[in-house]
Amino acid sequence: MEFSEFRYHAHNLADWMVDYLETVDDRPVRSSAIPGELLAKLPGNCPETPEPFEAIFEDFVSDVLPGITHWQHPRFFAYFPANSSPPSILAEMLTATLAAQCMLWETSPAGHELEIRVLEWLRDLVGLPATFSGSIQDSGSAANLCAMIAARERATRSTASSNGLCRAPRLTIYASAEAHSSVVKAATIIGIGADNVRLISVDQRFAMQPQALAEAIATDRAAGYQPACIVACLGATGLGSIDPLPEIGRIARVEDVYLHVDAAWAGSALILPENRNYLAGIDAVDSFVLNPHKWLFTNFDCSTLYTRSPDELAKALAITPTYLESASGDAIPEFRNMSIALARRFRALKLWFVLRSYGASGLRRLIRNHIQWTTALAEMIRDTDNFELVTEPRFALLAFRYRPDAPEHSLDRLNEELLRRINDDGRIYLTKARANGNLVLRFSIGQTYTAWKHVEQGWATVVELADSLDAATRVRSTTNRC
Ligand code: PLP
Repeated sequence: MEFSEFRYHAHNLADWMVDYLETVDDRPVRSSAIPGELLAKLPGNCPETPEPFEAIFEDFVSDVLPGITHWQHPRFFAYFPANSSPPSILAEMLTATLAAQCMLWETSPAGHELEIRVLEWLRDLVGLPATFSGSIQDSGSAANLCAMIAARERATRSTASSNGLCRAPRLTIYASAEAHSSVVKAATIIGIGADNVRLISVDQRFAMQPQALAEAIATDRAAGYQPACIVACLGATGLGSIDPLPEIGRIARVEDVYLHVDAAWAGSALILPENRNYLAGIDAVDSFVLNPHKWLFTNFDCSTLYTRSPDELAKALAITPTYLESASGDAIPEFRNMSIALARRFRALKLWFVLRSYGASGLRRLIRNHIQWTTALAEMIRDTDNFELVTEPRFALLAFRYRPDAPEHSLDRLNEELLRRINDDGRIYLTKARANGNLVLRFSIGQTYTAWKHVEQGWATVVELADSLDAATRVRSTTNRC
């Protein structure tokens, strides 16, 4: 493609991008594609001759777009948000244009130094102590993995990375039963094994029970295991639960076990001074993950891992063949020694653009809105017949279930059917979790373009579809009686 053509298409695409975002709420949130739909349309071979950009873009619109679930839709209330925002998109365009590799300081000095500074800004913004230093990872899963590698290094006095685990003590990891799946996955990757992850029981608020944690550690020590890592959740994925950090921190200190906090989603809420109490106990924490790509208006991928002792991770991951020697010498830490992949995108740029474009006050306003709307939604749910609020709002997430006058054993089926109707309908998108063994629906507010009216529309949609389900159930039971 000639540069003149590139310029022409880039301008047109910029227009399309804005139009898309301005009208995305006219589209169904979740794609209604069926498995194999796009595959059936795609030719089996790469084209031999060049194709015009117009033709490629036409196929993108006609074939690819229908298979996209619109994560930037203002009525996207599923999973957790995967934020994007205009300043972040613009930065991503620059990142793609520069296409710089930030693997060493030398290969992108500004990329490296911008990463150091924006991570200091973010650390201070959320109230983490200045003893933490950060690195940007591609995902919360990779950040959890890196934290657990550091924990394994500490528990084995660095022998795990040199000798493997054959002669190491049998290591164990502790996390609540609500912890994200990436914790167990990391245990399998680092050779500790899923069976050696102790999923500690939770209380009525779905938070880890410190007493149960202490007992599990004692039992393991008596059986000859060596506890390597405790993972505490600040905003767990299913129900947003918050583990009691002060008590868990005390246990970590007494037992001398590495403590990692997974705040991948809820960490962003700490930019609000009224949420700083959730950092009580932080003094005992060794590492902390927060994903700006979830709820800080920054495009995927941007997960920040903060650690007090980056050297511990670097000891495990630093391998420096001649071709990776950098002109920075020891003056500046190399981020490649704190992440799995060597190659690194220039991710700091979009975070820098976002932090500056919104300013701390703008970010606080957006996040405070999401939290306040969740509280208001909880009130609406309490006031709606046939619905039960299962969890109080946790930051900007709550769980509820449809609870008509029906036998308890039929409620899971009814809620599953309601969820299917909601997501097939397309006006909103919700996902599910389990609470006390029951199927519940999650309502997660945090999309960049969501306004209060979208939350109201969302709840009205749930009620309308529950009514239609109720009517259908009544017709069926009448027909069955005939
Ligand atoms: N931790 C928590 C609490 C999460 O909710 C998630 C994802 O939703 C992760 C970790 C994994 O983050 P990522 O999707 O960036 O790998």
